Amino acid sequence: MKFYFYILLCAFLFIQCKSEEPIPVKPKVPVDMKANKPTLPAADLDYIMGKFDPSNHKDFVLIPRKYADREGLYLRKRALSSFIKMRDAAAERGIVMEIKSATRNFDYQKGIWERKYTGATKLSDGTNVATDIKETKDKCLKILEYSSMPSTSRHHWGTDIDINSFNNSYFESGEGKILYTWMLTHAADYGWCQPYTPHGPERPHGYFEEKWHWSYMPLSHTLTQQAEAEFKDEMISGFMGSEAATEIGVVSKYVLGINKQCR
Ligand SMILES: [Zn+2]
Repeated sequence: MKFYFYILLCAFLFIQCKSEEPIPVKPKVPVDMKANKPTLPAADLDYIMGKFDPSNHKDFVLIPRKYADREGLYLRKRALSSFIKMRDAAAERGIVMEIKSATRNFDYQKGIWERKYTGATKLSDGTNVATDIKETKDKCLKILEYSSMPSTSRHHWGTDIDINSFNNSYFESGEGKILYTWMLTHAADYGWCQPYTPHGPERPHGYFEEKWHWSYMPLSHTLTQQAEAEFKDEMISGFMGSEAATEIGVVSKYVLGINKQCR
């Protein structure tokens, strides 16, 4: 009898133990969430502002030489695989598509900007910014026709490319026109959009038209949204003329001053 009692007791204890739910470990709430701070951690804002090295960023890949006009260019992995599909489809039609510029981080863009600011490089219309223009804001506005202030370029993101030529005229006749017409018809099928269309009522501000600049929307759409939410003119600093960024309104007019179809 005792034997059966012990068996029942053991079975009872066993069921009790099994039915007891483990006590859940309370997840640690990050400090930022408690304070209802901005959704982007600091690292993401650094990324949006190009303050990183694409050669050791896990989401970036070196563009094979056959797709670019030189070695050493980087792009986000997904953007490159989409580019290759688009480029191969164009090649089947006998159209040549070549990357001339891809990811440019803050330091690289600073080099471009300051060479123009100091007159070491003249602008495409022959202007020497250092000698021909007096006021800081006017110098910046002139460079901003075609070049971004460091920390505000879509090229920081690894989602944007320049193809074939930096002259709109190339895309207005001959093989350039055939390429551009093909892009207008097919690029969207691969996720690509031209952010810098001509100025007009729909696009009153921002860089002048760039028929060579294309953006990979499946990635850049989110980054544009993040820039709109988090990026402020006051964060722009660390290069010649940066003090004019706030007065110009660089984020609203240039970073967000894009073709609405690319938003
Ligand atoms: Zn570009």
